[in-house]
Amino acid sequence: MAGRVQLVRSVVQSMLIYSITLYSWPASLIKKIEKDVKNFIWSGDVDKRKLVTIAWKKLCRPFSQGGLNIRSLSNLNKASNLKLCWSLFNSQSSWAKLLQARVLRGRKIIHHHIFSSIWSSIKEETSTIFENSIWLLGTGTDINFWNDNWCGSILSEVFNIPSHISQALTSTVSDYIHNGQWNLPPQLSRQFTAISFLVHQVTIPTVPSKDKLLWKHTDSGELQMNDAYCFKMQPLQDLHWAKVIWSPDIPPSKSILAWRLMHNKVPTDENLKSRGCYLPSMCNLCYKSEESSFHIFFECEFAVNIWSWFASCLDMVMHFTSMEDMWKICDMNWSPQCKTVITSALVNLLSSIWTARNHARPLLAPLEISSF
Ligand SMILES: [Zn+2]
Repeated sequence: MAGRVQLVRSVVQSMLIYSITLYSWPASLIKKIEKDVKNFIWSGDVDKRKLVTIAWKKLCRPFSQGGLNIRSLSNLNKASNLKLCWSLFNSQSSWAKLLQARVLRGRKIIHHHIFSSIWSSIKEETSTIFENSIWLLGTGTDINFWNDNWCGSILSEVFNIPSHISQALTSTVSDYIHNGQWNLPPQLSRQFTAISFLVHQVTIPTVPSKDKLLWKHTDSGELQMNDAYCFKMQPLQDLHWAKVIWSPDIPPSKSILAWRLMHNKVPTDENLKSRGCYLPSMCNLCYKSEESSFHIFFECEFAVNIWSWFASCLDMVMHFTSMEDMWKICDMNWSPQCKTVITSALVNLLSSIWTARNHARPLLAPLEISSF
């Protein structure tokens, strides 16, 4: 399975990513490809589904968040649309200028249909662009004084100007600059008392430059494809175990079992039952209990003997009440070399227990052992 994951990551997806950044793909096509890729990863066959699998959106998370670092095509598609939309407003290239001339009327976006495959893909992202960016003041000629975010907030919203009025306000920031100084009409300052404070927070550049839109979520203010993808992914918190199990010192084929175990998706009888596959269950390593993930790996006397042996090697006592407990051993005060050895040993011992279980169950081999 680790080899198939690598194949998908480095070959299949690389080919698709090139095309997906040029065109918006139909959602149904993306869904079909993702289903085929998922089946291929789990079973080696695009048409063959496995019963106990981990959700595709979890596989598409980074390693540190419990995923397999596979790129989600649907999020890539959304990210490439966002990036193209960003380029439309910021790029000086010919295509951007041509499309701007077709879809922008002053500062407003057209609402009627035009024949453009690019525009139909990216027009939905225009609101995302303006909600997540801020103008860096240059000459002020490209920035709408009332409706653009250039002083930390949108003035028409701050002063609760009704939308039917604010849409008609077309003055630019440059209209309120005179000889390099702010020049607000006195009646404006009287009507909106806070406006002078908000406007004077912004420094007028001494050397005239072009107004620039900055993306709020990057240090540089630029929006690259990777930034757009991270934005669409909505990152989750890192998981402690996920950072431990993936290491250059551990073969990915072993780490993947630990990864599957931590998601509780190893195809034990318990998990097969939860997917509707009702079989009589018995642990083939001790013949004393039904088979569950926690039993096989931590409670079974076969596993307990292995963990006791490992504990004696480290001169400590091991008692696991949950799967997460296992990784706490790695956090103890070990030298970096010892930590590597202990982490590798934990992952390899899990693999050994699972291999022993599979050897004790020859009849199940065609059904699930092939996953590894
Ligand atoms: Zn047992």
